[in-house]
Parts: sequence; C-alpha cells; structure tokens
Amino acid sequence: MKCPVCRNLMIVVEHDKIEVDHCVHCGGTWFDAGELELFLETKELEDPHLYPAYFTTAPEAKTSEKKRKCPICGKKMRKVNIGEKPKVLIDACPKGDGLWFDGGEVDQLISQLAEKPAQTADSHGHVMGFIGKVFKSRK
Ligand SMILES: [Zn+2]
Ligand SMILES: [Zn+2]
Repeated sequence: MKCPVCRNLMIVVEHDKIEVDHCVHCGGTWFDAGELELFLETKELEDPHLYPAYFTTAPEAKTSEKKRKCPICGKKMRKVNIGEKPKVLIDACPKGDGLWFDGGEVDQLISQLAEKPAQTADSHGHVMGFIGKVFKSRK
C-alpha cells in the first residue's frame, strides 16, 4: 500500500497481533478499519466513537491542513479530532476504510504519553497508547 502523504510504499508493522501500515519516510501510520475493530474487540472497548463507521459521519474538524486521499479507495479523507487529552487530528476515509495518523501527530502523542505514564482509563486513551507503542517499538 502506498503512503497517502509521500507516495512511498509502506511497511507492515505488527504489535499485539494487530497489523498497521507504517511509512518510514514521513512517519505516518494507516490503521485499517478491520484492524481497528479487532483491536477494540480484544481490549473489550465498546466506545462507538472509536469504530470506523463513526468516522464516516463524525463532525469534520476545521483545519487548514491539506486533505489526503485514502490509500485504499482514493477518496478524499475527512479531518476528524480523536481523543480528549491529547486531541489529535486524524484523516478518516469517508467510506470507513480506515484512519490515517501523521508522523508529527504521533510524535505529539508519544511526548504527551511520556509526560503522563499512568494508563488513561478511557478508550480513546487505549487507542492512543497502542499507537504510541507501535511507534516506540519502531525506534
Ligand atoms: Zn509517507
Ligand atoms: Zn477509502
């Protein structure tokens, strides 16, 4: 699969039996809808705001960030805020194929997680923590 930002081929990274596609050039990560659901199920998280279907209807965030195209269907992705603290702006496929996290966004996330090592109890925190771990395991 090609990176929606820099067009380089992404590599598959496995963590906790969940596979994500990672671009080593720009540091972004693609979270496939199926993988995201699997992750939520294994963690027994039932927050509907985390299921891929939610992101197809979630309110779009106001931003000047450039729109990216979904690496699966090629449609322009929607900008959606995820999480409370830290809040991260992600790109979501309008058809629910998956979610894209920019490299910079993940770095932001990791530094915030590092400041607060205590596990956040909410389900957004679980997803953020997982993505943070995927990236830590890469370094
Ligand atoms: Zn890239
Ligand atoms: Zn798509």
